[in-house]
Amino acid sequence: MSIEISGSDLQAFVSHRIATPDGLLAGAVLVRDEIIDRLVRFDDIPDGATIHDFGEAAILPGLVDSHVHINEPGRTEWEGFETATRAAAAGGYTTLVDMPLNCLPATSSAAALVAKREAAHDRCWVDWLAWGGVVSDNQSEIKALASAGVAGFKCFLVHPGIDGFTMVTESELRAALPHVSSTGLPLLVHAELPGPVDEATRHLQNQNADWRLYSTYLQSRPEASEIAAIRLLLSLCREFKFHLHIVHLSASQALSELQAARAEGLPVSVETCPHYLHFCAEEIADGATLCKCAPPIRLRENREKLWQGLKDRIIDLVVTDHSPCPPAMKQLEEGNFKNAWGGISSLSMALPIMWTESSKRGFTLNDLTRWMAAEPARLAGCNARKGQIAKGFEADLVIFDPETEFVVTEDRLYHRHPISPYVGEKLRGVVKATYLRGQLVFRNRQFFGEARGREVGRPVSCPA
Ligand SMILES: [Zn+2]
Repeated sequence: MSIEISGSDLQAFVSHRIATPDGLLAGAVLVRDEIIDRLVRFDDIPDGATIHDFGEAAILPGLVDSHVHINEPGRTEWEGFETATRAAAAGGYTTLVDMPLNCLPATSSAAALVAKREAAHDRCWVDWLAWGGVVSDNQSEIKALASAGVAGFKCFLVHPGIDGFTMVTESELRAALPHVSSTGLPLLVHAELPGPVDEATRHLQNQNADWRLYSTYLQSRPEASEIAAIRLLLSLCREFKFHLHIVHLSASQALSELQAARAEGLPVSVETCPHYLHFCAEEIADGATLCKCAPPIRLRENREKLWQGLKDRIIDLVVTDHSPCPPAMKQLEEGNFKNAWGGISSLSMALPIMWTESSKRGFTLNDLTRWMAAEPARLAGCNARKGQIAKGFEADLVIFDPETEFVVTEDRLYHRHPISPYVGEKLRGVVKATYLRGQLVFRNRQFFGEARGREVGRPVSCPA
């Protein structure tokens, strides 16, 4: 595989708005051999550097999405490395961390991680890592997965809605936690307990509830289910001393307990997703199963409390939970929320969605890059190389025009099946170009070069 360096081996990415950890800088990011050499003001750009002048467009660090379902190997007809990473590049993401389920085999053994590496080899347009699964019976695989290079672990406290990956009960989780804790890696948890979901669903069935109504689906997954799960997890975190990460928080009622846990010194981090911050239940049409996900999108008032949670820094990061499926599985004609696949795809659009919503609430580009680059990189343990524009970091850069508005159309989505509840939405902020380790991957809706993404921490062209 050839690596091309155009012009001088020193590149200068020039802009009036470079998002650095210390705030916006006017000047240039100097890049040599895939790495950020240093940041300079305009007057200090060395003669002979290859200049890429982006003027008023902002330069942001390449985004890191620590919650993506790539589904390969095994369910490549749903999504795959090639399509997911192209969608990522178009959305300004340069690193993805793949969830251990939906693929077959699930990434719950070291052998499955080897199969994943083979599937990913030469197919990725951005860099990637993998989470390993903690399932009902793989406690003995946890250390081997860590040694083999997973970034951390993921488990479900409720049925994940798919075969091939089992949920864990409290006793199964207790059996796994000493192993997880000894690795020092984070455990990401889908925090809903089945009890309140089952009870609410039974009640709705007894009433012959109409599953075409969004309100039926919302009632079937009450906040109580998330809160009970989070309480259990916090007590286990206190007991077993592991890094607990709550994925896709939807229930804002849990924020105060999470804040208290943080104040107590428990190692807890929290994420939410663009769909919980953009949509609200009042505006979801009945039958609109494109908006089905679990936990569900809740009321407008809840959405605003999640924004407050970001402001108060109780929620640390925002990730897509990109989870596509073949269109038929969304059952768009039947519009039945009980049977449709739960998952929302947004890799190509998450940055404009988040900028549209955050800028009108007074947040800045620096908030955005903290939520969508620096903090997810820290969770995945690649924060010494990814997620910031700073000396010594990999030169993953996004050129972002924060002012231009556009309407989402299917041809702007690049994942395998371009369906998404965001089609038709008017958003603010356009990804103009994406550079992976100093090389152009995407510009003005076209892809450049070849699939040179690699597993973070692994040498180039080495699948295992
Ligand atoms: Zn997920």
